[in-house]
Amino acid sequence: MPTHPIRRSVRLSALSICGVLLFGGAAAVLGAAAWDEYVSGIVWPEPEMVEPGIGTSPPSDAIVLFDGHDLLQWVDGENWIIENGYAIASKTGITTKQAFGDCQVHIEFATPEVVEGEGQGRGNSGVYLMNKYEVQILDSHGNKTYYDGQCASIYKQQPPIVNACRKPGEWQSYDIIFEAPRFTDDGKVARPAHVTVLQNGIVVQNHFEIQGSSAWDKPAAYEPHADKLPLHLQFHGNPIRFRNIWVRERIQPLEGKRP
Ligand code: MG
Repeated sequence: MPTHPIRRSVRLSALSICGVLLFGGAAAVLGAAAWDEYVSGIVWPEPEMVEPGIGTSPPSDAIVLFDGHDLLQWVDGENWIIENGYAIASKTGITTKQAFGDCQVHIEFATPEVVEGEGQGRGNSGVYLMNKYEVQILDSHGNKTYYDGQCASIYKQQPPIVNACRKPGEWQSYDIIFEAPRFTDDGKVARPAHVTVLQNGIVVQNHFEIQGSSAWDKPAAYEPHADKLPLHLQFHGNPIRFRNIWVRERIQPLEGKRP
């Protein structure tokens, strides 16, 4: 780290001098002026181009896990029903064949239009990051349950900041930014996992420090695990629809060379 800011001189360009001249009397003063711009001295790599998706299509560097056609990238994908470009949860949960650590997840879902059940029994599914840490999916539109178990909660750990649910049957989105936990060589938590969630474009979890694996019947706790593990979508007995699922792995800040 530099102990003193590095400065480079910035002088007026010919064009800007012409502009200044047009404004008359101040030109003599400004034309002679120079300013020192602060530069950090850090040499940054150039951020790579990523083409954003058009509409709801994925960005160019996304790993597409479901584009409406098949669930070949998922273990037990054959258990779900695919129709009209979406997949309907059925029989079992599904788990990606690929493993992920730090990542951005985009997923769209709709709880059943025909409302059945209540509380945890209405429109229940879930996005299990690393097959362990659940971002709850539930029909929480006019359906009360314990707050740290409603839609967009980190299950049994943290309620959403607000209830951003659309009505039953309407398509909703999660955009999840997940930082995997880090463990020391002897299995201690060096840094807990963190998660940020936008539901339908609204922040519902903001860099929440995950307390451990989600469970219904015991407190959250960490057990050391691999750097990357699969993504899992829960089947909880309700025919939740899913579409447009993709992951991006580049979520860590660029590193520059410091002088
Ligand atoms: Mg669930």
